[in-house]
Order: sequence, then C-alpha cells, then structure tokens
Amino acid sequence: MADRRPTEDNPGILDKLIGYLLGNEKRNFREVHIDASIVEEIICIARESHPKEFAALLEGKITDEILTIQGLIFLPGKSSSQGAVMQTFMKPLITGTVGSVHSHPTYNPHPSNADLYVFSKNGIVHLIIAKPYDEYSLRAYDNRGIEISYKII
Ligand SMILES: [Zn+2]
Repeated sequence: MADRRPTEDNPGILDKLIGYLLGNEKRNFREVHIDASIVEEIICIARESHPKEFAALLEGKITDEILTIQGLIFLPGKSSSQGAVMQTFMKPLITGTVGSVHSHPTYNPHPSNADLYVFSKNGIVHLIIAKPYDEYSLRAYDNRGIEISYKII
C-alpha cells in the first residue's frame, strides 16, 4: 500500500473519482482545517508528479461544524495488476470521503469546466494545487467552485 499513486497521464484525471465519493448531500461546516502533514504530502506528490497531474480523494470528518481533512486516499492506477483487487478492497475504506484534491501543472489554481462539473456532483470540499506547488498555491473550493478559506493545523 506504500505506493498506489495513479501514474498515467490523464487529462480527465478527476473523472475516475466519480463514483468513489459519497455525493454532496448537505453537510454543514463553517471552517475547513487541513492537517499540516496532509498539506506537506500534497506538495510532495504534486512536485513528484509534475508535469503530470495527480488526483486523490480527501478523507475527513465534521465535528462542531469544523471540517477537518485528515487523510488522502489514492486510487490504484489502471496499469497496476492489483488494481481490481484494490478497488474492491478500498470501497469500504472510503466512507469518510469528503472531496478531492488534484494538481494543475500550470500557475492557474482555478477549477476548469470539467473540474466544476465533478465538484458539483461529488464531495463538499475540493483542493487544487498549482505551480509552484507550495502552501500558497493550494486553494480550496466548495461544490459550486467558490473558493473557501482554510486553516492549516
Ligand atoms: Zn483541474
């Protein structure tokens, strides 16, 4: 389970996340907190993946109207011989899924039209990290694609 990052170059990288998220039924939160280790992990993976995009699911929970992002869940790459097994195996693990994160190998951190479509169908918070892949180029959006602030804790 150490390295299960998708590696193929896929312009519709978010498409494969559809179906893994729980939908976007109303779950109220007024603040987003992201664990500092998660931010670090996102930065590292974005840099390693460049110039390809990476995408992952966000694991989190809402307590007292604070949505805390606590983990990343990587979907198996299509090329992996263990892919089918892992997909079955992973389904029960992703019940705490709250949204997605992906990288943009450009300086544009704004959601594309394809991103907005995925955001509207899935999850309640979505992160995009653009070049130069640091905490200032990491943005959070709600399911309408409206930028929301977050705290690194
Ligand atoms: Zn995008």
